[in-house]
Amino acid sequence: MRIAVCGGPYGNPYALRSFVDDARARGAERLFCLGDLGGFGADVDALWPILTDNGIECVAGNYDVAIARGDADCGCGYRDPKDNEYAQIVYDHTLAATGRDFAAWMGRLPTEHRETIAGVDVHMVHGSTLALNDFWWESLPEEEHRLRAEASGADVVLCTHSGLPWQRRIGDTLAVNVGVIGKPANDGRQEVRYAVLDLIDGHAAAELVPLAYDWQAQARSMRAAGLPDVFVETIETGWWTTCLEVLPPRERSRGRYHLYRSTLPSGFRPADDDGWGDATPRAVQDDRQVVPPAVEDDRPVVPLFGSPYFPSRLWIYTNFHCNLACDYCAVASSPGAAARSLSVGAFRALVDEAVTAGFSELYLTGGEPFLHPDIVRLLDHASARLPTVVMTNAMLLRGRRAAGLAELVGLAGLAGRRLTVQTSLDGATAATHDRHRGTGSWKRAVDGIGHLIDLGLPPRVALTETPENTHDIPAVAALLAELGLPAGHFAVRPLLRRGFSATGVEIGEDSTIPELTVTADGLHWHPAGADRATSPDMHLAPAGTPLVLGRQLVTERFFAARLTDGSLPRPVHCAM
Ligand code: SF4
Repeated sequence: MRIAVCGGPYGNPYALRSFVDDARARGAERLFCLGDLGGFGADVDALWPILTDNGIECVAGNYDVAIARGDADCGCGYRDPKDNEYAQIVYDHTLAATGRDFAAWMGRLPTEHRETIAGVDVHMVHGSTLALNDFWWESLPEEEHRLRAEASGADVVLCTHSGLPWQRRIGDTLAVNVGVIGKPANDGRQEVRYAVLDLIDGHAAAELVPLAYDWQAQARSMRAAGLPDVFVETIETGWWTTCLEVLPPRERSRGRYHLYRSTLPSGFRPADDDGWGDATPRAVQDDRQVVPPAVEDDRPVVPLFGSPYFPSRLWIYTNFHCNLACDYCAVASSPGAAARSLSVGAFRALVDEAVTAGFSELYLTGGEPFLHPDIVRLLDHASARLPTVVMTNAMLLRGRRAAGLAELVGLAGLAGRRLTVQTSLDGATAATHDRHRGTGSWKRAVDGIGHLIDLGLPPRVALTETPENTHDIPAVAALLAELGLPAGHFAVRPLLRRGFSATGVEIGEDSTIPELTVTADGLHWHPAGADRATSPDMHLAPAGTPLVLGRQLVTERFFAARLTDGSLPRPVHCAM
């Protein structure tokens, strides 16, 4: 026996008609619907004749129960006020648009159906075996899946409600979330999904079937009914724009939108917050995303990537070895550190991938990038594609490297390359600076800063604040001004407890905003945690993982960390 089971028609008669045709064409002998007849589209009453004329066997969803009773809300089980606000808009429409006869019919539907079909014990529910409005997500922990399967004990349990299709074996039970046909599955496709099950001699197999239908007609009917564009967009694009907060981290990370705009920190301006203020070098300032693209339009939802919580800058470790061995180095670099250099080819491919993946800035760091034998070629390629900042201790800007950089600066003027150099100075005297960074390093760093100024590439200079140099900060600012560094190119950053540093500010996934970082070892949550040996907690994925997948992993981890205590990570500007 072949059966077809759909969930959530959501006032979408066009999808329901296609479900009937498609299921019949596939040889389904019985058709089932697991409830939520209204709830997104405009024309709920049009579903009734399709259901009855085609003998679709229905169980009631929470929506149907609420509409039948004339409740004040849908009872979908959202906890976030914004989710509830959108749900209420559609519920009010559905309640007003549903004829009372149809509503009374909904009220007579059972809330579950259990039947042995071809020797298979099949249990059909709306939310789960625990509750009518329970969200049975694929990403639930194993024990949660077992709890729901064992609450039934059937061979097959079928559900919908959460709206996202999946199937899995849980012990002896085949559990299938059949998805919904009222709106797409937040996957960028207009098709919706339903399930076809073959039940033969006590055995069951399920297939989740994509269903094409006249989504343009559905969109038109929603607009004609005055439903907000934010709902219509989901029908037209396949991406969810509402009900975001209910999505668990994994399911949420797979969608295009992740946050309601109203949850973004108001007035967040990365450029003002990073210590560089108005004097951010012109080349960078012009391209900084004071308002990231993700929040520029008027959509009520935004992607996490490109928002202040996940800046669209990509950090690349060109190499890990360094001519210095600072005792506070967050990535445990030194002359003896394994180089872990990126080849020119790998670097170029990465930069090109970053452009495609939507990154808007590159930060090249190490180790000491100017130890990379091809650093000038790397800077050439990077700065031609995206605004690029290179972090250096400025001590190696001599000979071949200095000449190459000078040539590049010439090119920058000619070809519009956007390159900024950033370096470090921890004291106004060698005594203070060299204490953590090594004998002789102050003099060469000061010489390097002077060289960059002469080159027409005045660097940003950051001071890593320690108990030993706090008092020296005004003197460092004065020294830099004396060297001719423009005002505002100097900033102070905190010492971080990472790598070689046993003291300083604690950072972790639950306490910093993510800044996707690439090294020869793969992808990392943040540049200060890019050394896999000393920061295994910040390693996201192995080398070769696409940046787009990295964005998704960051998004999932961001929401997992956020949901632990309900708060959002704070930005820690450790390297800018
Ligand atoms: S802090 Fe910078 S300059 Fe010092 S060892 Fe680490 S990478 Fe090298």
